[in-house]
This record gives sequence, C-alpha cells and structure tokens, in this order.
Amino acid sequence: MDFVKSYVERSGMELHVTEASFESFLKNMEVFGPPAEGYRWCCKTNKLSAIAAMESEIFPDGSLQFIGQRRYESTMRMHAGRVTSNPWVPKQVSGAPIQEWNALHVWLYILMRKEPFNPKYAEGMPRIGCMLCPFMPISEIEMNKHSSENFDRWYQAIEDYGRSRGMPEEWMKYHLWRFRELPNWLYAEIGPLCGKSYEELTKRTLPPARQPLKVKFQEGFSPCVLGYSVEAGLSRPVDVNRLHGFSKILGQETTLEKDSHISIGDLTVYAEGAIISKGGDLKDVKRAIRTVFELLIKSEECSGCRQCAARCPTGALTIVEGKVEIDPHKCISCRKCMCICPSLKYSTE
Ligand code: SF4
Ligand code: SF4
Repeated sequence: MDFVKSYVERSGMELHVTEASFESFLKNMEVFGPPAEGYRWCCKTNKLSAIAAMESEIFPDGSLQFIGQRRYESTMRMHAGRVTSNPWVPKQVSGAPIQEWNALHVWLYILMRKEPFNPKYAEGMPRIGCMLCPFMPISEIEMNKHSSENFDRWYQAIEDYGRSRGMPEEWMKYHLWRFRELPNWLYAEIGPLCGKSYEELTKRTLPPARQPLKVKFQEGFSPCVLGYSVEAGLSRPVDVNRLHGFSKILGQETTLEKDSHISIGDLTVYAEGAIISKGGDLKDVKRAIRTVFELLIKSEECSGCRQCAARCPTGALTIVEGKVEIDPHKCISCRKCMCICPSLKYSTE
C-alpha cells in the first residue's frame, strides 16, 4: 500500500481507494468456506464488487483500465486477449499492454529505466497480491504470517472453520483449505508424510452449524386447475417477512401472511422452507421458482458486495451492517438488480 501511494504521488496521478468490509468477509467465510483454487468468491465480494460500486459513482459512463496481466502467468491468462471486459465490473474495459512480455522482460525494463519497484519483491515474494490468496504456496503464506493484524484474524478464522467442520490437523498445517478437492499431486507429497488416507485428510466430520440455502426441485409435478404445480424444498427455514420487501423487485401482486408464508403471483414460499409454484407451462413454473430463489438469496444470504446496489437506478438498495436492504417505496421493479451475485453463484455451485 505504501508503495502504491508513493508511486501515485511521484507520477502526479489521483488515487481512489475503496474497501470491502473485513467483518463481512469473515462472516461470508462461515457460509462459503475458505476461498480456494477455482473457488475465489473473495475476488468478487472483496475486490471486483467494491471496484464496481466505486466506479459507478466516479465513472458512471465507464472506464478504461490498464493492467499488468501477462500471458505467461497462467493457462487462463495465456488465452485471455489484450483487451478484455469483466461482467463483475460491467462498465470497465481492460487493456493489457504487456500481455506478451515474460518476467525477464519486465525486470529488464524496470532495471533499464531505473524504475522503483515494490520492496516486497526484494524480500523474496514472487508475486504480490491479497494477503491470503489460495494460490499462494506454503512458503509465501509463512512469509506473510503476522504481517498485519488482519492476517492473524483471517488465519484464526480459517482455523476456527476447520475445527468447526472437524478437519484433521494437517488441513491447517499444510494449508489444505486452499483446495476444494485435494489434488493428487499434493496428496502424493503429504500422504506419506502423515500416514493418512486421502479420505482422512479431506473428510468433514462435523456438519455446519447453519446450512447454506439451497433449493431442490421435488421429482415430478402435479396437474392443477392452472395447469402444473411444482414443489421445491429449501435446505432450511426462511424469513418470509424480510422476503416481502424484496418481492417488490418482481413487480407482481404479493400477499404476506406474517411469519407463515408469502404469495408472489402464483407462487408461495412457506417459512419452514418450501415453495409451491403453479402455472400453465412447466418451464415457466420452474423459472418462477428460480427467480424467487434469487430473491431469497438476496434476503437471506447476501454477502454485502454492493453489486446489485450499484446498479439500482433509484437508490432503493443500500448495504446495512454487511447485508443489502431494500426500500420498497423507492423500487420501480426494473429488475436491474437481478444481476450477477456472488452469494447466488457460490450457493449454487
Ligand atoms: S444480494 Fe446484492 S449485495 Fe448481496 S451479495 Fe448479491 S449482489 Fe452482492
Ligand atoms: S434495481 Fe432498484 S429499482 Fe430496480 S428492481 Fe432492483 S431495487 Fe427495484
């Protein structure tokens, strides 16, 4: 951070800073679990959504950003173009001027131009990113240990998570939390060291205290006066009173039976965790359940990333204590907030 500030000062640019709530991040981990390779929900909640929210205020017409991405950094970046866009930051276009360079090109350029560089590289860090990126090898995690108060809290949160799920001590010792599925190459190294089977190293022996919200369609459908009736089960009870406010987004006729159920058009959500949807066309009936499930994610599982709030044209959505809140009186049912949402993406994966 110091280096970024000094660089900006030296080059006479203006620095805009945005933040994601660290408290929300820790709470999100209880729902999503630790970020892992191929499962970096943190990028969406902590980085991209915070940038999208800031940019919608400062650059409402869009922005062009230049990034140091290079094709030799990863297989994914190998296939990325020099000009890209990211759905999580909708009005931004990214240009990668050094896409074809390798690391040697970069260092030769820096040394030739006598450009200052982040001192962390001189300390041996091969890449500088988030303090506990799951892409970090163990050596980098060890180097970062106790580098900030947040690191210690984050580290403690992972430990607590592992303990609450009954993970073995190796899960923490070898930072196995970095993987959703332990890769075979890593097991081949660690297995002989600790003498444990693959299953013993990866099995969660304790259930989560609070189930993440998931929806499951019941098999089959029942004919009814409207045509079809489909039932779906939710993985836990839900707050229908809170859902009532969010139902304004759909712009359909809604009735609430407090603490019991809410009817939105021809669909009813029951507080104990069931949905029944009726209609003339089976596809429409199922689509209605999926749409209401999106609303339920908003009202029940929000990670406070601000993606949807940043897209609301009337200011009906605000983030209060890390969760999105709606003012139904301001909502015009335009549905622009039914957008990309990390809580939805990672609850369905
Ligand atoms: S509901 Fe909105 S603020 Fe909450 S996680 Fe989804 S997009 Fe982000
Ligand atoms: S974007 Fe705002 S106004 Fe539009 S439906 Fe969502 S909450 Fe309502």
